[in-house]
Amino acid sequence: LDAGEFRRQGRQVMDFIADYYDRIDEYPVRPAVAPGFLARQLPDTAPSWPEPDALASALRDIRDLILPGVTHWQSPRHFAHFAATASNVGALGEALAAGLNINPFTWAASSAATELEVVVTDWLGKALHLPEQLLFCGGGGGTLLGTSCEAMLCTIVAARDRKLAEVGGEERMGDLVVYCSDQTHFSFKKAAHVAGIRRANCRVIPTCRESGFTLSPAALQAAVRADEAAGRVPLFLCATVGTTPTAAVDPLRELCAAVAGHGVWVHVDAAYAGAACICPEFSHITAGAAAVDSFSTNPHKWLLSNMDCCALWVRHPTALVASLGTDDDVILKDASASGVVDYKDWQVALSRRFRALKLWLVLRCHGVEGLRGFVRAHVRMAAAFEAMVRADPRFEVPVPARFGLVCFRLRPVDDGMAETTTNELNRRLLEAVNATGRAYMSCAVVGGMYVLRCAIGNSLTEERHVREAWSVVQEQADAVLAPAGA
Ligand code: PLP
Repeated sequence: LDAGEFRRQGRQVMDFIADYYDRIDEYPVRPAVAPGFLARQLPDTAPSWPEPDALASALRDIRDLILPGVTHWQSPRHFAHFAATASNVGALGEALAAGLNINPFTWAASSAATELEVVVTDWLGKALHLPEQLLFCGGGGGTLLGTSCEAMLCTIVAARDRKLAEVGGEERMGDLVVYCSDQTHFSFKKAAHVAGIRRANCRVIPTCRESGFTLSPAALQAAVRADEAAGRVPLFLCATVGTTPTAAVDPLRELCAAVAGHGVWVHVDAAYAGAACICPEFSHITAGAAAVDSFSTNPHKWLLSNMDCCALWVRHPTALVASLGTDDDVILKDASASGVVDYKDWQVALSRRFRALKLWLVLRCHGVEGLRGFVRAHVRMAAAFEAMVRADPRFEVPVPARFGLVCFRLRPVDDGMAETTTNELNRRLLEAVNATGRAYMSCAVVGGMYVLRCAIGNSLTEERHVREAWSVVQEQADAVLAPAGA
């Protein structure tokens, strides 16, 4: 890496990114491209030798070939999925970590990076009002991974090994049972499968509209008792704060009480809505988390910490280390100091990114109050969008807006309209909205209802974008509801 050349090229790249943000609103949020469109425009093989000023020419290709084919996640009109929020310091934190390019797999491999991660996970945990038992200062501790799926996998594996040691070893693997609801993110089933849990031993407990699609403690308890009575071993519950379809919040306190005494590891997946706990008005959510074993959230979703960053806290780090720790490598063992955190033992891989730097910059440069203001602005915009939907009698809001998410749909056109036809109508509406390129939303099917999801959470989104998105929905509803041939 040549410092002079890096300075010159770095300026080119920074200017390129800044120009992109200047023009981001001019792109259709989701491009209308057909599969293979890019591959057809690129050579079949990599160049043998670099062309003159290869970076400048590659930047031109990014502008002319690649950007027209990406979905613009940072567009203020991107309302699909959950946002992946960006900020200047989030992006620059990534640039710093990439530039320094260190690999803090043990304390000795990069002491300051490890200690910064210890400090910053405690900072974030305190800001989110997490129970002290999950923080280093209370005997637990946090780490920064890439995704929530990794957090689930690491905690299931820790719970599995602890439980197998308790109940008689690996021959009981086939008896281990995990629990979730029909609203839990699919990554949980995947993590359980990777951890070796039988697919048939994943209990997916149904939810209903009346209870706001939250997991019922009574149903959970009944399932756990039934498994125990049949000689199986209840292992792990994944509760969710902010489910993907409707941002429902499972009742953590009651769920912990329902499995108390059954030896179930309770994990909270707060990938999206964990961020909201930074606001005291939402802190009752984490107050119910006093007895959980682990909690994870993605600051890259709603806390301005560009991709990727998932914070995982565990009450008993020793359980993670007992399962994922490795001490059979002489070089690493010799290098490791005693009484320190070696984060390689908290995750699947050895190598890891210096994510703490980015999160620390975000917390320093925005402050907890700044982040609260950011979250609250989106919650206000979602309330405004919900009010606009409710004011149009053609639409309904099947579950009240939660956090920054509004789920809504066209009502049946007449009393006799079948649910499948209403669903098809709404599917066509979403397709029409997204085809305009002026707003991009996603969908969910809950309780048999197809709903459109408007997830407000992007850094650049302002009230005017939300109003315009609603105008797009209304215009397209006019078209979708118009009699054929009109
Ligand atoms: N859990 C919830 C509630 C989510 O909404 C998502 C993704 O949106 C995930 C987990 C998966 O997150 P990741 O991509 O970090 O694994």
